[in-house]
Amino acid sequence: MATLGNPQNTIAVLQKYGFQFQKKYGQNFLIDTHVLDKIIAAAGITREDYVLEIGPGIGTMTQYLCEHARMVTAVEIDKNLIPILQDTLREYDNVEILQEDILKVDIPALAQEKNGGRPIKVVANLPYYITTPIIMGLFESHVPLASITVMVQKEVADRMQVGPGTKDYGALSLAVQYYARPEIVANVPPNCFMPRPKVGSAVIRLTRHEQPPVQVEDEGLMFRLIRASFNQRRKTLANGLANAPELGLSKEQVTEAILELGMGAGIRGESLHLEQFAQLSNMIGKMF
Ligand code: SAM
Repeated sequence: MATLGNPQNTIAVLQKYGFQFQKKYGQNFLIDTHVLDKIIAAAGITREDYVLEIGPGIGTMTQYLCEHARMVTAVEIDKNLIPILQDTLREYDNVEILQEDILKVDIPALAQEKNGGRPIKVVANLPYYITTPIIMGLFESHVPLASITVMVQKEVADRMQVGPGTKDYGALSLAVQYYARPEIVANVPPNCFMPRPKVGSAVIRLTRHEQPPVQVEDEGLMFRLIRASFNQRRKTLANGLANAPELGLSKEQVTEAILELGMGAGIRGESLHLEQFAQLSNMIGKMF
């Protein structure tokens, strides 16, 4: 089997199997070897590593991963791609293909079974329609993770990296930065994919923090506060939090906590750093 990652070989495989792209699965296959090399280098894959690949498509990046890693599990939802993957990956004995929806896979169990519970690396050219649930699911399920190196929509990569004071700053930025150190490692134009997506893409590496950068008594409460603040972005922080029924806080309680932390009563959630959300959550947690 010829190496994939260029337009000719990709077209040959698609034609051999009469493959029809399924838009609902966010199928945009990589056809640029430079981008593939960059992803493998950014993920720092070595023979020690167990890698989880999400959405292998026809196996383009999977071939690269198999060349570098100890073992790869590739989870693909589209059953029409399974016979193709069995063909394009037949020369590798260090790959397992699972036909599953990644959002339903018990990834901690997989990490335990395949890697003895040691930190795994996740590498993917993600299906863009479920980028956020995939990333949040990986962090929140406490999968032992070394890093996540993924292709995402450029705008989403920007959102993961920014701090307060920009329009892209939001709950995703704070969640990603609580769990990991984000770095954009490449910008990738639409012509590196088949078919071409309508948006620009970027490869981002999220390196898991060994210790969270802030001290939080109750992570769940902090993330509920963060989500409530950004759900009502135009409101002041005090109004946004008091209006969120799931928190059960009065405006007086919230205002007291805000003032106690030395912030102005009219402050907006979008101007708070992670550290300030942590302090606010610790303060509100103590009030109950
Ligand atoms: N890795 C391939 C590449 O780079 O050429 C394909 C990337 S394509 C952007 C995303 C892949 O994810 C597709 O193969 C799609 O079928 C698969 N996919 C979509 N939703 C999925 C899900 N819920 N679980 C697993 N795979 C999924």
